[in-house]
Formats: sequence, C-alpha cells, structure tokens
Amino acid sequence: MNAEVASDVRAELGEGPSWDEEKGILYWVDIKEGIVYAHDLGNSSDKIVGRGKNVSCVVPRSNGGLALTLEHGFYSLDPNSGMMDAISESIEANLPGSRFNDGKCDPAERFWAGTMDETESKPIGSLYVFAKGKGVKKALSGITVSNGLGWSPDNKTMYYIDSPTRKVAAFDYSLQTGEISNKRIAINFDETQQPGVPDGMTVDAEGMVWVAHWGGARLTRWNPSTGKLLDTLPIPADHTTSCCFAGRNLDQLYITSARVELDEKKLAAQPLAGRLFVADVGVRGLPTYKFGG
Ligand code: CA
Repeated sequence: MNAEVASDVRAELGEGPSWDEEKGILYWVDIKEGIVYAHDLGNSSDKIVGRGKNVSCVVPRSNGGLALTLEHGFYSLDPNSGMMDAISESIEANLPGSRFNDGKCDPAERFWAGTMDETESKPIGSLYVFAKGKGVKKALSGITVSNGLGWSPDNKTMYYIDSPTRKVAAFDYSLQTGEISNKRIAINFDETQQPGVPDGMTVDAEGMVWVAHWGGARLTRWNPSTGKLLDTLPIPADHTTSCCFAGRNLDQLYITSARVELDEKKLAAQPLAGRLFVADVGVRGLPTYKFGG
C-alpha cells in the first residue's frame, strides 16, 4: 500500500476533495490560495475552475454545477464560467476570527460544513447543516476546528472531527431528519498515541474509517466500533489533510496535503508537501453524495 503523486499542483493548503463519478473529476481546493481545482482522472491533469477567498470545501450539486463554502457562507459555482453566487444567508460574518472549514454532503444530499477559530484555540465554531428548502441550521456549537465528516454504510452513524480534541466522535444519525444524537468517542488519538491531530476523513464500503493526520504524515484506517487501528498509509507530507475515494470502481483513495506551517528545513525535507496523492488501498469507498439544494 503506497501513495503516489497524482498531480503537478503544489498547493499551499490542499483540502476538501469530492468525487464526481459522471464527469470523472475529483474536485479539491487550496484554501490559502483560494482556488478550486478539477482533477481529471482520465489524464491526471488539473484545471482551475473557481476562485474565492478561503474556499474550504467543494461538492457536486444534483442539479449540475458545484457547491462550496467560502469564509462566511454557502455558494454555488459554475465550473465552466467560474461564476459564484451565495446560496445561503451569511454565517458568522460578525464573529471575529471565524471562517468556514471542511464540509461534505450526507446520503440525503444535505450539505454539512463547520467553522473554525483561525487561531485554532477558542471554541467559537459551529457545525451547520444546509438542506434544500430548509435553509442553514446549527447542529453543534463549541467547536474549535471543525473538520472531517462521514457516514456509516447503513446511514445510522455520523462521524465528526473537531481536530484539537484528537478524537473522532460518532453520533446516532437520522437519514430522514438529519438529526444527530448520542455523542460518543469512536477513535481516540490520545489513548492510541497517534502522531498529529485528526483532520479530514472518509468511510469505506466495509464501514471502516480513514483519517488524515495533520502533523502525522499518514492516513490511518480504523474500526470505529472497537476503536482499533487497522492500517497505516504513510504520506510524504507532515500535513496530510483529507481523503476521498474516487475512480470508476471507487477503489482509488485520493489524499490532499499542505505546505503551510512547515519551516524551511521541513519544506526542504518534504518536496512533495502540498501535492495530491493517490493510493490503491485494496478496498472500495462509499460514493461522494451530492448537494440537493
Ligand atoms: Ca481540514
């Protein structure tokens, strides 16, 4: 199990990948450069399809085009023209130091995305859910750095990462209403002495959870029912940020990484930091769900 470089792009802060199976394109963002990339799996080339300050995640929409988060709200993006339009009220626009961070759609096509404190120290952030016809609702508050999300194959559990906690939380999840309840700890980086903090994540078809380690140069695979570590995939970048299954058979795991917050010595030692990687990990993933709004 090895990760290979998938793209020539050297991102400052690669993040937020999602897979469009109809187009054969993996969308991802560079938050610091404010760029939305379309990575064509057919020829491994990247195209810039949108720009917006601190764009933090991007997802396909069921009615065509893309949806994404900028600092203080949800937006549509037409990847052909680059046009962006607000599709929600503004969120936390008057809260100093906050901005949107990671997000993902659930199997009922609701767009979940959370905010973070830019100093990564104060629990001023929240997790929001945006459902078609229902606007944006706050699902959780007291979050410091809102990050990875995922759902179990039976759609009964939602996983969620607030990075500084060094834990992956699990909630009972209602597919019908989108409500979450009964929070518990599924994966604990402290007890298992893992390097770095949990950042982005995905769930595979066997229900196992893949977590990107910011500051840990790896992805790890876990059984969320037992909290046991199953596998480690080394990535040649300390700041491994997120991951997403893609490809016709959903069997290629794409991984984003970052150059930010590496000193000169570390940057010299990690020439591949900031690149997009791909690995054949021997298991299929769950599909990327679209935004229905
Ligand atoms: Ca992240």
